[in-house]
Amino acid sequence: MTNQRDGGRDRAGSDELHEECGIFGVYAPGKDVARMTYFALVALQHRGQESAGIAVGDGSTVLVNKDEGLASQVFTDADMSALSGDVAIGHVRYGTNGSKGWRGAQPHLSTIGDSIIALAHNGTLVNSDDLRRQLLDLNVPFMSNTDSEVATRLIGYFTQNTHHIREGVRSTMELLEGAYAMVLINERALYAFRDPNGIRPLVLGELPDGAGWCVASETCALDIVGARFVRDVRPGEVLRVDDSGVVSEQAVPPRERALCIFEHVYFARPDSVMEGDTIYSDRVRMGQCLAREAPADADLVIGVPDSGVPAAVGYARESGIPYDQGLVKNRYVGRTFIQPTQELREMGVRMKLNPLREVIAGKRLVVVDDSIVRGTTSKQIVRMLREAGATEIHMRIVSPEIKWPCFYGIDTDVQGQLISANYTCEEVCDQIGADSLAFLSIGGLKSCVSPGGYCCACFNGDYVVEIPEESFRGKFLKGYHPNNLTSAPESTRRRVSEVAEQIEKENQ
Ligand code: SF4
Repeated sequence: MTNQRDGGRDRAGSDELHEECGIFGVYAPGKDVARMTYFALVALQHRGQESAGIAVGDGSTVLVNKDEGLASQVFTDADMSALSGDVAIGHVRYGTNGSKGWRGAQPHLSTIGDSIIALAHNGTLVNSDDLRRQLLDLNVPFMSNTDSEVATRLIGYFTQNTHHIREGVRSTMELLEGAYAMVLINERALYAFRDPNGIRPLVLGELPDGAGWCVASETCALDIVGARFVRDVRPGEVLRVDDSGVVSEQAVPPRERALCIFEHVYFARPDSVMEGDTIYSDRVRMGQCLAREAPADADLVIGVPDSGVPAAVGYARESGIPYDQGLVKNRYVGRTFIQPTQELREMGVRMKLNPLREVIAGKRLVVVDDSIVRGTTSKQIVRMLREAGATEIHMRIVSPEIKWPCFYGIDTDVQGQLISANYTCEEVCDQIGADSLAFLSIGGLKSCVSPGGYCCACFNGDYVVEIPEESFRGKFLKGYHPNNLTSAPESTRRRVSEVAEQIEKENQ
């Protein structure tokens, strides 16, 4: 997709939503923290496949190893052996904001006097351009164009003034706006913190036998290192983990909770637990709810792998229509690159999915998928299933229509590219060539996940964090009026220099 802040990168070959990142942190003296982090990154690989990185604090310095590619491509056994220490963080990235390549890979390093910090971030800061300009005016240098480096530099800048990283983080959180779950290390401690709305997930886990603590984007990363889920990191909270244990501080007041509801629909792994339920059971419930909201007269229910499958099981369970596997996924497809022609784009989809003819030939199908973004993949799936002999295709989508761009870490940032923002449900049905099409309602979706506040902005345009005009200019279609876009007037916003002055006064 074209991303204006990203120099016009075109992801025309991709019709999928992409999470920006997965993060992990561990404090475990005497353990192989680098290898534990590597295992966790493999568990979180679905959250980003463009780059991977690990930083380790060994008591006297912080070492980082990062590069483009999957975790298994970036790290060798020798790399792991070279990264020894007591504390580590890791990151996998699908970048939509800022630099690509090595410079955009995380963790970011920053020097503060004699000390070094490394930071890894999941989410998007909506005011990073403004903060970067302010830091450049204060002669703070930058290596990349990412919002995550803005956070790193800001923490470095304030920590220099306060001499305490926790103070530096707290002051930085007063200025950051948007979605962020972050992990940070210096030579001997781990920090983890989350935006005041809790848009991106972050959980705390404890290693067995008091061996240490870890934090991760999802519980599947805790499972892989044998950690017990303790709790979610709270919105606006900072955790510091070192030899004195876990210390919690509410750095900024929590706001209305707004966890990204798409974590439940698509991003998170089905074996992860969020808000007390496995993602798998949430998805089964979504399929059941969709079967009640949008029944179909059909012979067989199939799901589009992976996230459509549990929802298809739920749809079948509720409707009484048998379920079977109608599409096979190739699990070894890496990046499919930009496909310049329609023919190559279709091959790209076939590289990932292939129909099971003997299962679907002659059948009236209900096809359950997680979402429709541009519609190109759905169109190709419908065509593929008809060629394989399906007699009717009823598409059922376990999310509402995506009509609004996301500014909080997902790469749907131009409304014109979203098919449901441009066409009615009937028109989309015609365009993808299905016999019928239905989407789960917002109310239905919310009834399938645990109670609490969720961000649903990509469905209803209710943005939970206000967005500066420079970030949204040119991204909305005429006639759309999203809520909560305009920033507070410049005069009422706090500036980096003001926070620094306040710190100086407090230190006197
Ligand atoms: S706009 Fe949509 S994808 Fe973005 S954070 Fe909100 S719910 Fe998630």
